[in-house]
Amino acid sequence: MLNYEHLSFWEKRTYTEEIDTLVIGAGIVGMTCAIHEKKRHPHRKIVVVERGYLPTGASTKNAGFACFGSPSELLDDLQHIPEKHVWETLSMRYEGLQKLFEIVPKHAISYSACGSWDLTKNPMEADFIHYLNQQVERITGISEVYSDDSVKIQASQFEGFNFAYKNRSEGSIDTGRLIEALHRKCIEIGVHFLFGSEVTSISIDSSIKSVNTQYGCLNSHQIALCTNAFAQQLMPLDVHPARAQVMVTSPIPNLSIEGTFHFDAGYYYFRNVDNRVLFGGGRNQAFQEESTDSMETTKRLQNHLESLLRTNILPNKVFDIEYRWAGTLGIGPSKEPIVLQISPGVVAGVRMGGMGLAIGALIGEKLSKLLK
Ligand SMILES: Cc1cc2nc3c(=O)[nH]c(=O)nc-3n(C[C@H](O)[C@H](O)[C@H](O)COP(=O)(O)OP(=O)(O)OC[C@H]3O[C@@H](n4cnc5c(N)ncnc54)[C@H](O)[C@@H]3O)c2cc1C
Repeated sequence: MLNYEHLSFWEKRTYTEEIDTLVIGAGIVGMTCAIHEKKRHPHRKIVVVERGYLPTGASTKNAGFACFGSPSELLDDLQHIPEKHVWETLSMRYEGLQKLFEIVPKHAISYSACGSWDLTKNPMEADFIHYLNQQVERITGISEVYSDDSVKIQASQFEGFNFAYKNRSEGSIDTGRLIEALHRKCIEIGVHFLFGSEVTSISIDSSIKSVNTQYGCLNSHQIALCTNAFAQQLMPLDVHPARAQVMVTSPIPNLSIEGTFHFDAGYYYFRNVDNRVLFGGGRNQAFQEESTDSMETTKRLQNHLESLLRTNILPNKVFDIEYRWAGTLGIGPSKEPIVLQISPGVVAGVRMGGMGLAIGALIGEKLSKLLK
């Protein structure tokens, strides 16, 4: 194992010495924080330290929904969360997406303004859809975002759903291209990366902060903790891991599914990816078992998802499941992210829940503003 102390003059000077801001975690939040920090202070040395050979959190494993709220999820939220927080969270998601597109142009991440559909068995009150439209127009300036579009069910050949509510302002992206574009942007502006370095502890007692990794100690003037679901391993923050499982089918000829779809208050989601179907969710079937940071899939949930896929989403289609994986959400008692200054020069932006693609870039910017 090559410890930092054995690095060359060049390596030390470039990567490990005189670090101004150390960002822990190379997900969407960590990389957008690094980008904002470098733009505000072009002469500072910004280093992102990441435990995986790839970013190993949710940012490379998500479904790629650029979304801010489906009717059944909003209904569920309004029944459990103070209304003010529901609209604040929706507003953050919408603003976060605009911030993301300012950093990475839509075409670079294959953004498709395909719309989304929330599928239900029972109808939603027309008055409720009207109310959602009023609230969303107040926040986004866009009118008539939601509409009843139940003809979509027959057109897509779904079984077991009777109603579909369209959100015309949501879309999808290519998650792989997003993380690559953020990384490329970081490199272009001079942000450095240390991949494969796991931070095991942080010391913030003096003006020089230090972190320990398996290769030794790194000193920095400032630290941004962007480890989302894994934050508790380093600091006592109210965020917990929740596993989210996904599968992708083989290519399906004449696939009639276009766009992105949710059902059951957002607990299930699927979309077309290159004439395959990506399907994920079902955490509500096994909350306790899925409260883990393990990235292994389980037979129980994979079988459950596959059965729904074959029965309700792709009935009468012949396909295999070619990809299966699990990622880790950072969740807590509230859907709001934690964005805070822990001490001067030490900030944390974690607990992105199931919408970090939408809010991540906004949180990255907020974190950078909290730094000196
Ligand atoms: C299956 C799945 C589907 C999802 N679908 C969507 C979606 O469609 N739309 C949406 O908006 N959101 C979605 N999300 C949520 C979204 O992906 C996350 O909220 C977002 O990616 C969080 O970004 P982040 O940068 O905060 O955290 P992460 O991407 O989790 O990044 C944290 C990084 O910190 C690193 N790290 C952790 N501990 C250490 C350590 N000690 N030392 C060094 N590095 C460390 C990790 O390896 C990781 O790379 C989904 C998530 C999952 C899992």
